[in-house]
Amino acid sequence: MNAQTALQMGSAVIAAITAAARGAAPREACGILLGRGACVESVLVTANVSADPTRHFEVDPAALVAAHKTARSGGAKVIGYFHSHPNGLARPSATDAASSARNGAVWVIAAPDSDGTWGITCWHDGAAGFERLSYHVSGG
Ligand SMILES: [Zn+2]
Repeated sequence: MNAQTALQMGSAVIAAITAAARGAAPREACGILLGRGACVESVLVTANVSADPTRHFEVDPAALVAAHKTARSGGAKVIGYFHSHPNGLARPSATDAASSARNGAVWVIAAPDSDGTWGITCWHDGAAGFERLSYHVSGG
């Protein structure tokens, strides 16, 4: 996975992310992206355990431990995370950049546009920091 590779995402995955984001607003929603290679196969919506969930997110660590455990026993891999920006910022915030691990993870950010329609942007957290990823939507 690098920033030149387009992500493959199922339409059901995108629908689950935007539904979680809409439902959590004005708090940030978050969760774990599961898949293989550049393909996001499913999403695990988790609790946002941040002390300030309207401005920050923190994936429930117990859910993350469980997801990694499942991956080790042959399940889909943890390839990244999603969270939402109810304020409409459709890119990583300064806080996100500061917490970047530069570990090659995929970050998906859900944000509403000026009409209130939620959409997503995809990012690669690589050695150079966040770079925009293109994505293809597959059916189902
Ligand atoms: Zn953010």
